Amino acid sequence: MFIAIFSPLTGVPMSQPRVVVIGAGVLGLFTAYELTAAGVTDVVVLEASHPGDGSSGRSVGMVETQYLTFPDVQVRAYGREVYAALERDHDLHFVHGGYLRLGRQQADITAFEKSLEHQKACGVDDAVILSPQDIAERWPHIVVDDLVAAQFGTWDGYVDGYAVSQLLAGIVKGRGATVVARAEVLSAQRTGDVWRLDTAQGVFEAEVVVNAAGPWAGHVGDLLDAPVPLLPQLHGALTIELGAPQPFTPFVMDYVPGSGTDGVYFRSERADQLIAGLHTDEAIKDPVSPDVPLGAMGMDQIERVITLLSERLVGADDMEIGRSWSGIYPMTPDHQPIAGWHRDAPGVVCALGAGGSGIQLSPAVGRLAADAILGRSSDFEIDWSHERFGD
Ligand SMILES: Cc1cc2nc3c(=O)[nH]c(=O)nc-3n(C[C@H](O)[C@H](O)[C@H](O)COP(=O)(O)OP(=O)(O)OC[C@H]3O[C@@H](n4cnc5c(N)ncnc54)[C@H](O)[C@@H]3O)c2cc1C
Repeated sequence: MFIAIFSPLTGVPMSQPRVVVIGAGVLGLFTAYELTAAGVTDVVVLEASHPGDGSSGRSVGMVETQYLTFPDVQVRAYGREVYAALERDHDLHFVHGGYLRLGRQQADITAFEKSLEHQKACGVDDAVILSPQDIAERWPHIVVDDLVAAQFGTWDGYVDGYAVSQLLAGIVKGRGATVVARAEVLSAQRTGDVWRLDTAQGVFEAEVVVNAAGPWAGHVGDLLDAPVPLLPQLHGALTIELGAPQPFTPFVMDYVPGSGTDGVYFRSERADQLIAGLHTDEAIKDPVSPDVPLGAMGMDQIERVITLLSERLVGADDMEIGRSWSGIYPMTPDHQPIAGWHRDAPGVVCALGAGGSGIQLSPAVGRLAADAILGRSSDFEIDWSHERFGD
């Protein structure tokens, strides 16, 4: 394992590992972002296609902190901080439309109250709990009959995952890293402490290789003789054409983590258009090949969105379905990412498996992957180690 050594006087690394990151989605690029921010510049990001062309460019881009346990909130609060810095310093387009998580059971109210406490402990103080009456007053087009409460993060909102990837690629290049497009890693060998990676763009060598290949991380793990558990899940989203401008709708999530099923989500994209889909944090579907053709959403999924929407949105029966697309949640068996050294393979760092939360979790994943390489300790209470998976 190679760890950077820092000068005690300047804080700048005196000895730097050569790092190759495989995959220019948000997880790989935030790893490069954190490394270059720490002064490690011998970083090459190899991308089979171009930055953002994987799951990152197919997401609906929500960044929020409305989670229920302290560790889940803490990593998202870090994500919020990093996205806020990108918005402030690099003009990232961030739509702060708010995030509304709906609750139907009394137990949800307790969980939401706890979530607000966790958020406050992480420096996030704009979230509130709304009663069904509050919701109906603010957004009369949301059906509230079966709700007991909701938690609402007013700062939360969405980014464009493709634009974030492109922005990060530009930032890390500006700091001295290299991003190589159309450079699929085809094979890998390790001799001594040095990895040699063969790609369509030639050979690259490094002491540390980061597996950030998103839905393909299982395949890349096998190339590196560093297997990782991944259950790629097919998900999609669609547009709802409203026909005429309608009042703004925040991101509404009709799913509570750990419920064992999926739920519908929707938000305004334009005044006359919504984006909707089905979300779950859990791997409840059969895994798919990362090379599955990614066209429109399946009809069964579209019908489920329409059914759930018509229960939640006034006038949904008159809305028209527009276009739809699908993409992959790169999910691990326990639905949490893996970030840090591979358990068995020397010189391999994981930054993978962020499921349906990879846009909001990618700053924390990148931070932990970089911390491992730099030998830094972390304040995060979450366990994203590869070791947590037994044999
Ligand atoms: C419909 C949908 C909606 C979503 N909505 C949200 C949301 O609202 N909020 C949220 O936080 N998350 C959301 N997600 C999840 C999020 O998009 C993913 O978790 C995240 O983009 C994963 O990023 P990644 O960097 O791991 O993977 P990717 O973005 O897929 O990047 C991996 C990259 O690796 C490259 N690669 C693969 N193999 C190789 C190789 N051999 N050599 C070189 N390069 C290789 C690929 O080309 C790809 O570009 C959504 C996902 C989908 C599908």
